[in-house]
Amino acid sequence: MSQSKPTYRSTRSSNTNENISFESAIMKGLAKDGGLFIPSSIPTITAQDLKKWSTLSFVDLAFEIMKLYISEDDIPAENLHEIISRSYSTFRSNEVTPLVKGLESNIHILELFHGPTYAFKDVALQFVGNLFEYFLNKHNSANPAEIKKLTIVGATSGDTGSAAIYGLRGKENIRVFILYPNGRISKIQEEQMTTIQDKNVQTLSVTGTFDNCQDIVKEIFGDEEFNGKYNLGAVNSINWARILAQITYYFYSYFQITNAQKDAKVKFVVPSGNFGDILAGFFAAKMGMPVEKLVIATNENDILDRFLKSENGEYSRSDDVKATLSPAMDILISSNFERLLWFLAYEQLADEDSDKAGDILNQWFKDLKTNGKFEAGSSVVKAASKLFDSESVTDLEILQSIAKVYQNSKNPNKYIVDPHTAVGMKATYNQLAKDGLESNIQYICLSTAHPAKFADAVNKSLESFEGYSFDKDVLPEELRKLSILPKKLKLVSRADISLIKAAIDEEIIVMEQ
Ligand SMILES: *Cc1c(COP(=O)(O)O)cnc(C)c1O
Repeated sequence: MSQSKPTYRSTRSSNTNENISFESAIMKGLAKDGGLFIPSSIPTITAQDLKKWSTLSFVDLAFEIMKLYISEDDIPAENLHEIISRSYSTFRSNEVTPLVKGLESNIHILELFHGPTYAFKDVALQFVGNLFEYFLNKHNSANPAEIKKLTIVGATSGDTGSAAIYGLRGKENIRVFILYPNGRISKIQEEQMTTIQDKNVQTLSVTGTFDNCQDIVKEIFGDEEFNGKYNLGAVNSINWARILAQITYYFYSYFQITNAQKDAKVKFVVPSGNFGDILAGFFAAKMGMPVEKLVIATNENDILDRFLKSENGEYSRSDDVKATLSPAMDILISSNFERLLWFLAYEQLADEDSDKAGDILNQWFKDLKTNGKFEAGSSVVKAASKLFDSESVTDLEILQSIAKVYQNSKNPNKYIVDPHTAVGMKATYNQLAKDGLESNIQYICLSTAHPAKFADAVNKSLESFEGYSFDKDVLPEELRKLSILPKKLKLVSRADISLIKAAIDEEIIVMEQ
């Protein structure tokens, strides 16, 4: 594909000349036609680039990658480098996403949880917060007479809310409201969100379920008057900047395993829910990083696994979402999968029809809405299977694999994974059993959260081991200290849109003082 100035288009549009800027794709989040933004073309790199990149620091590598997706008109190179560098200065590891090499024979663990909230979403949201601030400042210094502000409203079942709050706290002209279901998220997740004292952040603890919270947020976004008044924005996983930021660690860990030797075979195994994390791996592969397979590891909410194993590419939602031990992956449909589907549909088309992919996607998603499913066809699922494989993992297997990783690791440094990473490890063990050790394949399993965030599952799996102690072996000092910090939260007694709107109105007055 060409390396012309990077622009974006919607997955639901058949206009190949949309040429939307990076800035509007990021600030809008979702396209007007309901589609997701994708790059108009995927930049490719040469073998020399690959070699050059192999020795870069995380920040410099991120810069080289992002430069290919962001035009200088959107962010001049110097500013982009500064934004990236600032975004990753908040991580506890100099390497940002360190790789534990050879945890077990040819299994390596890519630790993505060294950001402020101890979960992988920080890698993207630390960057997204700085992008929002940069684009607002850019607009406001050009238009000092009409200062633009952004009001982020989101619902969370745990991880996204805290990563968004830590990404946006203290940012100029940005206000953040996060709704969560009172008493239904883990203690540490609640402490992480409510102990933030920045004036521009307010958590709303709502009596109700996560679905109630999410429904209210959807309703609020549909309220044109309220939206117009506060300029609402979202930080959910469909924002393109989140995918972009995640591409870096695929290359970064790949280089550490292969030293950029072309013949090394690497499989990435990715605990997946909304398909955002693994989609970044797809872009890395399309750019020219040689990978053997990207393995989708799902929990019992297995729509992706069922798709990949189906004859006709059937994508069908279940009636209910299952509550599992890996709650950040409890989904009915995987929102970012639409982006992959666009590329798969596009590649099936003859040149003269290449502008039809948007129409095809529109039809599929119309079917999904009305019938709860669609069939993408056997050629599409075959094309997907060239790069992707999948495994689905039960709750029992999650508990078993936390214990197995623990037992297999050498004393005295017992390795403890969280239940999401355990889904990935079980999938890795399955792959290894199929491939055989002689295959010489290297497995990089992405670790998406620190085990301290999911105490219940980790304790349930490990409490029978002699010498195991959550306080001593798992809980970092920084998280332990949260419980004694003062809390800032607003209780909302009913999941009711007018109560939430009133709470936001009231708090914005306080924030503006
Ligand atoms: C969000 C999340 C995931 C799933 O990532 P997707 O991009 O939605 O596939 C997995 N593990 C943890 C801990 C998460 O927070």
